[in-house]
This record gives sequence, structure tokens and C-alpha cells, in this order.
Amino acid sequence: MHYQPQPALLQNRIILVTGAGDGIGREAALTYARFGARLLLLGRTPDKLEQVRQQIADEGGLPARTYTLDLLTATPASCHTLAERIAADYPHLDGVLHNAGLLGEITPMSELAYDTWHDVMQVNVNATFMLTQALLPLLLKSPSSSLIFTSSSVGRAGRSGWGAYAVSKFATEGMMQVLAEEYQHTPLRVNCINPGGTRTGMRASAFPLEDPDKLKTPADIMPIYLYLMGDDSRRKTGISFDAQPGRKPGPAE
Ligand code: NDP
Repeated sequence: MHYQPQPALLQNRIILVTGAGDGIGREAALTYARFGARLLLLGRTPDKLEQVRQQIADEGGLPARTYTLDLLTATPASCHTLAERIAADYPHLDGVLHNAGLLGEITPMSELAYDTWHDVMQVNVNATFMLTQALLPLLLKSPSSSLIFTSSSVGRAGRSGWGAYAVSKFATEGMMQVLAEEYQHTPLRVNCINPGGTRTGMRASAFPLEDPDKLKTPADIMPIYLYLMGDDSRRKTGISFDAQPGRKPGPAE
């Protein structure tokens, strides 16, 4: 995507990123901070979140805060407690990037362990739903807010072996579409991003034989993350965007 964001695109915007300690989420948090946002960094590994918080501070960004929440064990109660903690410190949220995700096992459906199925659905779908429900009131207090879900090419067309992960991403696309219609007459927009093959730990575990140098880095795919978080996308809702339009799904060639 060719997008030239204004340097002050996200000035003073209050943005929460899940899975902010690593991979694409880490890069998105750092990028949003560089464009002026105040970051809420959510993840399960405190050390990783702290490193991102520190890097934002070192780069002169607005003070960021870290929130530890393991989405595998998240409940409606723990998500509401988190939302209350956030509401005590911030007047509203201008953006939420649901980025945290679990791959599970690449294996035929017939052999997929129920525990894997459960964990992938819990992190990618159930926790995303619970967190969204808890954070919606804060998003609706903003004069212009953006809710972004993270999809995948296997969330649009099923692929052999991608079991629970693919099904969870179809559910993510559905959640986005339902919410986009429910909030179409409000200042909240709801969209999906399919990152496309990107050089991260998750990608390496899905395609261990792939040459990572043939993949885009998280930094390369940030234009769409900026576009959807900032007001240039104000009228866009209910859309599933590709961070790498035209990229063929599957291993890099
Ligand atoms: P990574 O595995 O690099 O990062 C995933 C992030 O999610 C990490 O910060 C991780 O935390 C966090 N996370 C995982 N489980 C939990 C949990 N139980 N509770 C809280 N946080 C959790 O993955 P990517 O950056 O590659 O993926 C980011 C998103 O993009 C995912 O939704 C993925 O499905 C999607 N995607 C990625 C593609 C790619 O090629 N990379 C392609 C298509 C979609 P921790 O570091 O502490 O484990």
C-alpha cells in the first residue's frame, strides 16, 4: 500500500494493542507511538511488554502503559476488570488493534487435538469477543474510533491442515462484519487486516523451511495499520484489507 501518513496522524490518540510484546503487534505499537499515540500495551509476557514500553520512552514517545492479560485464561470478568482499570486512567479509547493470536498445530482436522482447538478458539475468538465487549464503551466515548481485527488468508478460504486457526480467522471476519453493521451509524469503524506472510515467530513455526528473507517484515506492512488507525480511514467500515495486496497465499517463492 502506498500511503503517506501525516507525522501527527495519531497525535494524542489513545490506542490499545494486543500481543504488543512481539511480532506485528510490537511493530504496530512502536509505529503508532512514533505517530504521536499514547499506547496501552497488552500481552501475556511482562518482560516483552516492558521492553516495548521502554523503547517508546527512549524514542521520546508519549508514556505507554503495560497490561498483562493471558488471553488463554481470560474471562468476561477479567476483561471487565481490565476495562475498569483503563477507564480509571483514560477518558476513552481511540483505537483497539486485536493482534494477539495463536497458531496451534498444523495438522489434518481428523487428528487435531480438542485441547488445541479449544486454545486457538479461546485466544483468537473468545478472548477477542470478551475484550471487545468490555472495551466498546470506551471506544464509543471517542469522537472517532477504530476497531481493527487481525485476519489471515485462511480466514477467507479454508486450507488443508490449517484447522482451528483457519476457522478462528473466519470467525474473526464474521465478528468484524457483525460489529461494523451494528455500529455503522456511530463514529466507530470496524475493519480487518490480513497481514499476509510476514517475518515473525508465528510465521517461522508455520513454515519452518521457508527463507525468512523472502518475507516482508512487520515494519514493511505498517502503512495499512496506520491508515486504518488514523482518520484518513474515517469512512471505511466493514472491510477486510490486505496488508500485501496481490500476494499469493502460502510459502514465499
Ligand atoms: P507472533 O507469534 O510473533 O506474536 C503473537 C503475539 O500474540 C505475541 O505478542 C504473543 O505474546 C501474543 N499472544 C499469543 N498468545 C497470547 C495469549 N494467550 N495472551 C496474550 N497474548 C498472546 O505472531 P505474529 O506477529 O506473526 O501475528 C500477529 C497476528 O497476525 C496474529 O493474529 C496472526 O494470526 C496474524 N497473522 C500473521 C501472519 C504472519 O505471516 N506473521 C499472517 C497472517 C496473519 P508472547 O510474545 O508473550 O507470546
